[in-house]
Amino acid sequence: MSPRRITVLGATGSIGASTLDVIARHPDRYRAVALSAFSDDARLFELCQAHRPRYAVLVDHAAAQRLHTSLRATGLDIEVLAGTEALCEIARLPDCDTVMAAIVGSAGLAPTLAAVRAGKRVLLANKEALVMSGDLFMHEVRTHDAMLLPIDSEHNAVFQCLPRGLDTANSGITRVLLTASGGPFRTTALDRLDQVTPDEACAHPNWRMGRKISVDSATMMNKGLEVIEACHLFALRPEQVEVVIHPQSVIHSLVEYLDGSLLAQLGAPDMRIPIAHALAWPERIASGAARLDLTQIAHLDFHTPEPARYPCLALAHDALVAGGTAPTILNAANEVAVAAFLDGRLVFTGITALIADTLAALPPQRAGTLDDVLAADSAARRIATGLLAQPRRVRAR
Ligand code: NAD
Ligand code: MG
Repeated sequence: MSPRRITVLGATGSIGASTLDVIARHPDRYRAVALSAFSDDARLFELCQAHRPRYAVLVDHAAAQRLHTSLRATGLDIEVLAGTEALCEIARLPDCDTVMAAIVGSAGLAPTLAAVRAGKRVLLANKEALVMSGDLFMHEVRTHDAMLLPIDSEHNAVFQCLPRGLDTANSGITRVLLTASGGPFRTTALDRLDQVTPDEACAHPNWRMGRKISVDSATMMNKGLEVIEACHLFALRPEQVEVVIHPQSVIHSLVEYLDGSLLAQLGAPDMRIPIAHALAWPERIASGAARLDLTQIAHLDFHTPEPARYPCLALAHDALVAGGTAPTILNAANEVAVAAFLDGRLVFTGITALIADTLAALPPQRAGTLDDVLAADSAARRIATGLLAQPRRVRAR
């Protein structure tokens, strides 16, 4: 059997690194055919040397030129492409069968959709793409007969607990329980949250991840986005998805059935497990992750998230119920708010406030077409950026 050919979108990120690690463990089964990054040409150069893809894409044109120059000096035959359209090109390459969608944020929507429309096996880490375009995205998956496999650890866990993959019709599911670690501020005094720093927010207790998702985990917007993601992936109603705080991150999520059975997936908190699962599904391959030693786990705790500590959960839930472009607006405002927090332009507690104010200023519309989604995304960014310019924003609220 010839190796499966894989495009890794977001190769220089945390998920990109874990994906390439799993691929490198199985050279007989997988080969990276194209790699992309935003602007880190030095890192992409190293990855090109290690994985020898056919194509390398950098969104930033000057960085692409530098990569081209360095690769030419090595004599490696790798075609360097630049710009956002090139991301879509490598997502639909005829000689690639699998696409790892691991760009962070809305920038991943177009290339992920390109992979879906080309009928690829799509490994979805980029939850923002699905949250933004929900029903449309799933419609494209069905229309183009793409195979969608969840990489988000919770959704991958749910997927592993389902009888027939994404087809959940008549499977007797009553609820899905998404576990959440509670992030780095699970026990921080609420009146200190307006003073926490970006580095504190990114110091996740159990997972090493990119900075945007780390902040999302601290606010729990990540879990809010994941509730929306779960409803679309598994065709669930909002009331069927619950969030449970589980600080040890040993159980990655659970599915409850009509008969009272609760199925869970457990494992070390290592993204190579869901990545290996999705790469090989329905087979299994080694991931490189450590084994879980149950005798070393003193206890597993579960509790309900406090609404006052995690107000982003309610914002996401309400946007899901409102439907249309509300999740698109939520996602865009969150991206603007998190970037501002990471840059020191907004306090941590201002993230929720900025998202809530953006949602209040922009009533949701029907999300009938991709243009509707992109228009809502731009409008929300414009409004959030305008609100951010008001000086009171940087102060605690
Ligand atoms: P990261 O910040 O470590 O990496 C992001 C990647 O996207 C990088 O390769 C970067 O160059 C690229 N990128 C950034 N902006 C871009 C743009 N505008 N255009 C094109 N490429 C761009 O992020 P990550 O932690 O690897 O997360 C990637 C995605 O996976 C996110 O959607 C995140 O929610 C999801 N995810 C991550 C984890 C995790 O453990 N890291 C777990 C579950 C889901
Ligand atoms: Mg997750």
